[in-house]
Amino acid sequence: MPEGMARDAEAGALAGAVRSTCPYCGVGCGVVAQADGRVVGDTDHPANRGRLCSKGSALAETLKDGERLTRPLIDGRAADWTQALDLVARRFKATIAEHGPDSVAFYVSGQCLTEDYYVANKLMKGFIGSGNIDTNSRLCMASSVAGHNRAFGADVVPGTYEDLELADLVVLVGSNSAWCHPVLHQRLLAARAKRPIRIVAIDPRRTATCEDADLHLAVRPGADVALFNGLLAHLADQDQLDHAWMAAHAEGFEAALSAARQTAGQTAALTGLDPADLVRFYQWFASTPRVVTVYSQGVNQSSVGTDKVNAIINCHLATGRIGKPGCGPFSITGQPNAMGGREVGGLANQLAAHMRFDQPEAIDRVRRFWRAPNLATKPGLKAVEMFDAVLDGRIKALWIIATNPADSLPRADRVREALRACPFVVVSDCWPNDTTALADVVLPAAGWGERDGTVTNSERVISRQRPFRAAPGEARADWRVLAAVGQRMGWKDAFSWTSPAAVFREHAALSGFENAGSRPFDISGLAMLTDGQYDALAPVRWPVRWAGDEGGRLFGQGGFATPNGRGRLVPTPWRPPAGRADDAYPLVLNTGRIRDQWHTMTRTGRVPRLLAHTGEPRAALSPTDAASLGVADGDLVRIESVHAGTVVRATIDAGQRVGELFLPMHWTDEFCSAGPAGRLVNAALDPVSGQPELKLTAVRAAAVPVAWRGLLLHRAAVRPQGVAYWSRMPLNNGHAFELVGSDALPAGPALTRFVEGLLHPPAGAEWLQLTDAGRGLLRVAILVDGRLEACLLLAAGDGAQLPPRDALAALLGDTVTDEARPSLLSGRAPGGLGAAGVKSAGRTVCACFSVGLVTIREAIVANRLTSAEDIGACLKAGTNCGSCIPELKEILRDVHASA
Ligand code: SF4
Repeated sequence: MPEGMARDAEAGALAGAVRSTCPYCGVGCGVVAQADGRVVGDTDHPANRGRLCSKGSALAETLKDGERLTRPLIDGRAADWTQALDLVARRFKATIAEHGPDSVAFYVSGQCLTEDYYVANKLMKGFIGSGNIDTNSRLCMASSVAGHNRAFGADVVPGTYEDLELADLVVLVGSNSAWCHPVLHQRLLAARAKRPIRIVAIDPRRTATCEDADLHLAVRPGADVALFNGLLAHLADQDQLDHAWMAAHAEGFEAALSAARQTAGQTAALTGLDPADLVRFYQWFASTPRVVTVYSQGVNQSSVGTDKVNAIINCHLATGRIGKPGCGPFSITGQPNAMGGREVGGLANQLAAHMRFDQPEAIDRVRRFWRAPNLATKPGLKAVEMFDAVLDGRIKALWIIATNPADSLPRADRVREALRACPFVVVSDCWPNDTTALADVVLPAAGWGERDGTVTNSERVISRQRPFRAAPGEARADWRVLAAVGQRMGWKDAFSWTSPAAVFREHAALSGFENAGSRPFDISGLAMLTDGQYDALAPVRWPVRWAGDEGGRLFGQGGFATPNGRGRLVPTPWRPPAGRADDAYPLVLNTGRIRDQWHTMTRTGRVPRLLAHTGEPRAALSPTDAASLGVADGDLVRIESVHAGTVVRATIDAGQRVGELFLPMHWTDEFCSAGPAGRLVNAALDPVSGQPELKLTAVRAAAVPVAWRGLLLHRAAVRPQGVAYWSRMPLNNGHAFELVGSDALPAGPALTRFVEGLLHPPAGAEWLQLTDAGRGLLRVAILVDGRLEACLLLAAGDGAQLPPRDALAALLGDTVTDEARPSLLSGRAPGGLGAAGVKSAGRTVCACFSVGLVTIREAIVANRLTSAEDIGACLKAGTNCGSCIPELKEILRDVHASA
């Protein structure tokens, strides 16, 4: 085996441990699943060198089979695989026969492994003959793909993570890396601890990332193009361009500069930024040879996203700052295998192996390689358009794999309507969710830890995801299921692989087929791997053109994938984003990720400690907006767009710009009455990339009166009825619910019905109840066989105080003795009972080590701690992934100010 390609025969199995890759963000950290059940960071993986963030550190806690899908379901009833596969193949064939290939579609995911993606794409584009396969990566980084293709002639991230450590200036645009790509952010901070690196954060919100920045530019949402156009003009005016490099390797500068021309006053007005801050940033960029500009969803999720990407790339091409150590534009993907999906052609407008539909020779090449005379010859429908086509009946059979569009797509209610209207919906997933609930056929999928294949991270490193546990029940790998359907549809030979290694070899061979250096994505050096070499494959960066080859930085000396080999500066004239406030909807809503959750929480939402930091989807709004709405922290606020409305609790956040709200993207109907933020979101699309504008929706907001507040502890994940708001957090022994009502508590028999709607008491349960109308208190405990099943504490009034929940929560499921019963209704710690007298550590700040706010504040005072490092030494908080360090600093400031 070539050196550097595989570590050794033990690469995948270390004395009972198995190396794999984290299934969450695009950093693509290596993990080791140990024989004792722990999952730890892989010290040999080049992305993370052993570090994991809070989500990665909690991976072992997600490996519970309890709620998994374990059998195929047809119309909600258990079926066997033969029945399910026959039905899927038959319905797709019949639909195609009657309505043509464009009447069917696949909607797949950046969670899919490259092998799954490859088989799905080959089936749809190669043999069904339609371009109708798109991926939820469309919501994540389609604008980066489009920008790369326009500038480089191919979808290539030129640099590596090491460039962030080698740079002297790192510009983070629309990227809350401290929370969303924590391990990479910590690599940057670790490098800065050794030598000066300036960090500029460009983001409308003051995020945790901004706490680490030397300069935060709170740009007006959607105005990044104006900001970088201003930079290009500044670089030209200050004669800070690399004319020699451009003369040799680039084109289009004059047109790009002409489109970028605007006065300094215009730049300030469009961006909403202080002219002095703009000049400081421009001067730093101009005077720093080593600059990396990192961008992610804040850039991509916009109706002007592709222009934003090209406006950034223009500045790097104009200064020759690309493909060299410490230099370059750097798109960071949100998903673990967004890059792998791009490589196989998982986007509707790409063909395969980075070949495109606008290249007739590429269509012919793929057709010959696949021996697929029916190959699609034009792009298919992109995600939002695809679901529009489902709703209006153009698409009549849809297969959704590893994604939850009923929650995550813009106008989520319309997506649900489309799924209900679609004649045939197949969903492959690991867990039940709001999308599987609308499927005709549900196929149980093997999940992380069970799947076998590869993923590619944001720096082009291909890593293995290896299985280390059996899939529960009858769950199967997606590539196998897709191949089985392909065979049943009549294409036996084309879908006859017997292992993921065989799929990978074919994918690698296609990347090198008639390539001869014309396409940067070339991993043909991996096309001859034996099964054993594939099993042992060590992380490797593409291109890999021959056995033993390993890719490095690209384009430093030109060699772009354009017809003349030159990089293109693309004119990006200022164009306002589609979403903007007006008289009827005077605020703008931004959506995004929080620190410890992943997508629609199907996995992370099952881990109590990952909900301990942020347990509900609060809307962050500025103090000015809160005051004008009459909303205090924790109050209810109703948010409405033209598409939908929701009620959530408010957080007053001085880091929000006036006129803007932020809502986390993760919560669904399963976890909160507010449901998915996607319901509200604007479906305006970038005209080039088709990416929806998830970060800019015009909304209005109003305070919702609070009549009472409540705490419900329950063994079951019930859905409380009759309240203005509820949210659920899992506990190790049940669930904790926050409840808020806006109507007065009922009385008499209506009260009983109301309580039953909250508690869903099992038949035969024993009730303990205390009602104190004078004090506005209602307390109910439900016991089943003497064990505490549920406990409800309600208190009337806007400022109602509820007892801390930890002591009571510890008793869920425990036997309750006679003398302890009164304590259940008093809400006080029941001394002498089970886990009695549990002292609240407060809201969790450090999720890795479960360290709470109260503990931290007390430790600061008691031990006279003065730095985040002191807190780490004392409590371990902040010493693993480090993503709570900005909050630790804030707590320190607050405690010292109070003192
Ligand atoms: Fe996983 Fe965290 Fe690494 Fe992302 S940064 S790959 S979520 S461990």
